Amino acid sequence: MLNWDDPLTTLAGKPGEPKMPPPGAAPASPPLATPTLGNHRTGPRPTDDIPPTIAGAAPVVDPNPITRQPDLALREPELATHAPQSRQAAEGGGATGLETLERGAGRVRVDDKRIINCRADLNQLVPFKYDWAWQKYLDACANHWMPQEINMNADIALWKNPHGLTRDERTIIQRNLGFFSTADSLVANNLVLAVYRHISNPECRQYLLRQAFEEALHTHAYQYAVESLGLDEGEIFNMYREIPAVARKAEWALPYTQCLADPHFTTGTPENDRELLRELVAFYLIFEGLFFYVGFVQVLSMGRRNKMTGTAEQFQYILRDESMHMNFGIDVINQIKLENPHLWTEDFKQELVRMIRDAVELESQYAHDTMPRGVLGLNAPLFDDYLKFIANRRCAQIGLPEQYMGATNPFPWMSEVLDLKKEKNFFETRVTEYRTGGALSWD
Ligand code: FE
Repeated sequence: MLNWDDPLTTLAGKPGEPKMPPPGAAPASPPLATPTLGNHRTGPRPTDDIPPTIAGAAPVVDPNPITRQPDLALREPELATHAPQSRQAAEGGGATGLETLERGAGRVRVDDKRIINCRADLNQLVPFKYDWAWQKYLDACANHWMPQEINMNADIALWKNPHGLTRDERTIIQRNLGFFSTADSLVANNLVLAVYRHISNPECRQYLLRQAFEEALHTHAYQYAVESLGLDEGEIFNMYREIPAVARKAEWALPYTQCLADPHFTTGTPENDRELLRELVAFYLIFEGLFFYVGFVQVLSMGRRNKMTGTAEQFQYILRDESMHMNFGIDVINQIKLENPHLWTEDFKQELVRMIRDAVELESQYAHDTMPRGVLGLNAPLFDDYLKFIANRRCAQIGLPEQYMGATNPFPWMSEVLDLKKEKNFFETRVTEYRTGGALSWD
C-alpha cells in the first residue's frame, strides 16, 4: 500500500494501532481542533513522554522543544568524536559529500548522522537513521507515472470545440498551466541549487533526488498539456512574468531560495540554521502546501464535471506527488526542530505564522484573480475558507498554533481525489507504445 498522507485528513489514528509509528511512518503531528476528514494511514501521535529520538521514527511536533529536549545538546561531543570529519566540512555547516576521501576513516554509525550540520560521510546511504525518508523514497518510486500515459484526446476535442468550454473555464485552464508550468521548475531549481546542499543526510537526499525528478515530470506534464491543446507556449510559460496574480507567488518565494543558493551561505549558526528552516517552510509548507491548492481544486473540479479529464488526471497525479513532497518537507522541518530545539524560539514561531498568514492573503488573491465570477460551482469566497482551513492544518503540522478559528473545508471531495489508485486508472488509459525499462531488449 502506498504510504503518503492526505494533507487534509485527520491525524487521529485508527483504534488499535500501535502507540509508536513504525519505521518509515509519516509524520505524527498534533490533531486539529477543527473538523477533519477521513482516516489517516499512519499511527497516532506518540505520547509526549516517549523519547522522540528513536531511530527511524518520523519526527514528532513539539510546540516548545527548547524546554523539552535538554538531552540533545549532550550529543554534540559524541558526534564530534565518532563522525569522520573533513577539512572542508569543519569550516562551517555540514559535509557536502564531495570532500577529499579519507582513507581508513571509521565506518559511519547511526548515531553519527544528523539532518543538518552533519559531518559523517554523505556518500554512504546506510546505516539508515531516518527510515521515514527512505520509506518516502520507496513510495515515490512505487508511484511512478509519465505524462504521456494519460490520454488527452477528449481534452483536445473539447478545447477545439468553440462551444465546448466557457471563457471562464478556459481562463482556469490557461492560468493554472501558466502558474504551475514555471512553479514546478522553480521548486526543482530550489531543491537542486539551494536545499540539497544543506541537508546533510543521505537518505533524505535520496528522496530529494527523486523529488527533483518528479518536479521535472510535472513540468513535462504541463508542457505536454500545452502542446496537446495547441496553446501558445510563450504565453503560458511567460505568464509568471506577465500576469500579476501568477507573478506574485513566485516573487514571494524567490528571496528565500536566493538566500540559500548563495555559494557563501552555510548552515552551522543559529541565524543560518533558521534561514534554512524559514526556506523549508516557505517552499514545502507554503509554496507546495498552500499555493498549489487553489489551482488543484479548480482543475480537478473541471474533471469532476467531465471536462478536460486528461488535464485533470495529470493534475491528480501531480497532486499525489505534491502531497508527498509536502509531507517529506514537514518531516524534515520537524526533525531539524528535534535535533536543534534552540532554533524554535517564540520570535521565530511568530515570524513563521506571519509568513503563513501573508501566504493565505496571496493565494486568496490568486483565487479572486483566476475566478472573477462563479464557475463550476466554485467561487472565490469558498476558497477563502478553504485556504484558512489548509493554513490551520499546516500550522498544526509543524507545531504552530492554528490561526483561523472555525475554518472548515468546503471541498471534502479533495480527500477522495487523493485516494487515487494508480493501477486502476492507468490500465484504463495507458498508451500501448509505452515501454518500461523492464521491457527493453538487449539484442
Ligand atoms: Fe513538488
